[in-house]
Amino acid sequence: MSIIVGKQAVVIGAGVAGLSTARALADYFELVVVLERDTLPVDPIHRVGTPQAQHVHGLLASGLNALRALFPNFERDLIQAGAVPLKAGLDVRVERPEFNPFPQRDLGWIGYSMSRPLLEHTVRRQLNGYRNIIVRQQCRAENVLVTSDGGRVQAVQCESRDRTSEVLNADMVIDASGRGSLTLALLKSTGRPRPEETVIGIDCHYTTALIAIPPTAPSDWKGVFTFPEAPASTCGALMLPIENDTWIATLGGRHGVSASGEWDGFLRFAKQLRTSTVYDAIKHSTPPERLPQFGFPESVWRHFERLPDLPIGLLPVGDAVCRFNPVYGQGMSVAVQEASVLHRLLGERRALGDPLVGLSAAFFQEAVPLIEAPWAIAAGLDFIYPQTRGDRPPNIEAAHKFGRALNHIAARDPAVHKLTVEVQHLLKPRSILRTPELVERVQAEMAAVS
Ligand SMILES: Cc1cc2nc3c(=O)[nH]c(=O)nc-3n(C[C@H](O)[C@H](O)[C@H](O)COP(=O)(O)OP(=O)(O)OC[C@H]3O[C@@H](n4cnc5c(N)ncnc54)[C@H](O)[C@@H]3O)c2cc1C
Repeated sequence: MSIIVGKQAVVIGAGVAGLSTARALADYFELVVVLERDTLPVDPIHRVGTPQAQHVHGLLASGLNALRALFPNFERDLIQAGAVPLKAGLDVRVERPEFNPFPQRDLGWIGYSMSRPLLEHTVRRQLNGYRNIIVRQQCRAENVLVTSDGGRVQAVQCESRDRTSEVLNADMVIDASGRGSLTLALLKSTGRPRPEETVIGIDCHYTTALIAIPPTAPSDWKGVFTFPEAPASTCGALMLPIENDTWIATLGGRHGVSASGEWDGFLRFAKQLRTSTVYDAIKHSTPPERLPQFGFPESVWRHFERLPDLPIGLLPVGDAVCRFNPVYGQGMSVAVQEASVLHRLLGERRALGDPLVGLSAAFFQEAVPLIEAPWAIAAGLDFIYPQTRGDRPPNIEAAHKFGRALNHIAARDPAVHKLTVEVQHLLKPRSILRTPELVERVQAEMAAVS
């Protein structure tokens, strides 16, 4: 493919968003430099810059599809690295109030479960195939430099571990740093407003254990998702199989409720869940050396799309734009989908005189609907709890009643079950659950129950 958009692009951050965006840029820039402040491990193990990576990280089917499209060998390499294939709808026992478990049935596609370090490691390896992508580790981006009128990015100032400072020219700068603080600083220094934010206070807390899967593990499931009895309780669990015959078990609560960081307390929390499935599976396990914890106070969506402009060539992506409630496993999948959007837009715009002019507006026009769907799914469920802070979506009680009745239908009807899971995996729009035919069935279900 001809490279015509620019000479050099700099990506800040080698997380899932940064790595997949680097791939998207590689077809259109002579050189793509990814800056990562961490030392990147040779093996798929944890690193300090992504503390959330110690906790369960589900990859939705939409994210897997986007990764497959960007990296043709991704799925093969993921399997070879030990990711566990899971039949959607069948292999994970989903325990919801009224359904213990929800009917398990094969919905027709395979997903994969693995640790977040393994996923990231596999994506990183894909970049080895691109001679024009350089990943510079132990190199912290300090500043994004712009033209004197503030209109266009020019370079990134970075500092290596030995404190050597360097300025890298850049026609395009991607902020995939998770926090997005360099973007916010740049907006301020160029006299631009800070983006408005939508914030939902959820106060989630995660505690995670890695546990060797015992020979006595149940054979009718590979993973378990135990939902709380909301709104009375916030205690839930997600335990999935990952590489090396290991379960990753994350227990958590909200609004001040959390599982203990020591094993006995962790087991006590597991015992108090709505079902005993997780407790029974892990109660005889050897205690792990450590149980990392993570507090996630708020989901935050920064509305860059509402700003009059951004400096030409600057683009925040991934968590720098939107940090989703982690419970629904959406962040990585949305980040990779954003990279796919950018890839397509660059392809469409490369014939323009200056393809970077207007690129961020075109990007956000497509990224906003990508974000809106998972955000609305999460928000709808978050506001089941009265303690959740933020603007409650209108008609939320009616939406909850609709959802409950829809679940009853899905439990009986495999086709509706499949639709609901496809929506959760961001494969289909939420509107597919509001067709007149389905709405009529849901209304009949609600009338029958009341
Ligand atoms: C507890 C928890 C559980 C989650 N579970 C899931 C899940 O199940 N499924 C899912 O899809 N998502 C999940 N997520 C969200 C997911 O982790 C992120 O959405 C996803 O990783 C995309 O993040 P990112 O690449 O934008 O940022 P990050 O993953 O935070 O990566 C940012 C990178 O930038 C680097 N960096 C930062 N500043 C600089 C700098 N100045 N210079 C150089 N490098 C820098 C960091 O070291 C890091 O490597 C979870 C999040 C949390 C908190």
